[in-house]
Amino acid sequence: MEEPTSAYHIVAHGNRSGVMCDVGTLASGLDRAVRKGRYPGADSRGQVMDSIAAYLITHAHLDHVAGLVLASPDDTQKDIMSLPQVNQALADHYFNWVAWPNMGDRGPSPHIGKYHYKDLEPGGTPEPIAGTGMTVTAYPLSHGGVTSTAFLLRSGPDAFLCLGDTGPDAVEHATNLEDLWRAVAPLVRQGRLRGMLIEVSYPDPVPAARLYGHLTPMWLNTELQTLRGMTQDDARMRALPILVTHIKPSGAGPSSRRSVERQLEKIGFFKFMIAEEGRKYAL
Ligand SMILES: [Zn+2]
Repeated sequence: MEEPTSAYHIVAHGNRSGVMCDVGTLASGLDRAVRKGRYPGADSRGQVMDSIAAYLITHAHLDHVAGLVLASPDDTQKDIMSLPQVNQALADHYFNWVAWPNMGDRGPSPHIGKYHYKDLEPGGTPEPIAGTGMTVTAYPLSHGGVTSTAFLLRSGPDAFLCLGDTGPDAVEHATNLEDLWRAVAPLVRQGRLRGMLIEVSYPDPVPAARLYGHLTPMWLNTELQTLRGMTQDDARMRALPILVTHIKPSGAGPSSRRSVERQLEKIGFFKFMIAEEGRKYAL
């Protein structure tokens, strides 16, 4: 089985242009989606890529950026909007004329300049994403010693949250998720948060020392209960679509996906949906 690669194409209602949140896969994933007719009116990957206005990268781990690097020769000019550490990691480790030609506008010369790095201020004022009808705010997450990111996208009154890999606060000795939940709780209460993408990498049980900056169903529940406590609105919390991503395949026994599914079912309460590759979700 393959490692899970993350890439989420997010488009605001009524818009043609959108963003990609992480780009673990791009060309092959889009080819498959176009073949399956997931993009009505598009008959090639190029047309879909042209409609992507910007990339939002949660962190520079290979399974979240490989598609961006590999597809870059065929790509058109775009912004990469990320936290400063993430943009720096892309410039240092990928687009550096050693791993790959420098498609960016930072790092070792010459700069091909296809990609413009735009540093986002943590928790800063919403930054417009040209042509998409959306704005973005980046919140740092703690991912086993690496800075990862949650992107809060807004379009008119609506909001959507795309979280990169993250460990639970209690294990990471951090308050990143607590801070994020505090920021989005009012949006949940007002019924404006339309959903979130969040990882569950393994089924329970996993000892804390073996989580390596990831969540399990038990830890996802712990974190969502914190948000529920802040929101103080069980009806809204129950209705909030929680799209679960990043399940790593197991070597033996029942598939991790099925175990995670069963464990989430057992938790109940929340509206969990396991994100499927190439599927379109209207939220
Ligand atoms: Zn990672």
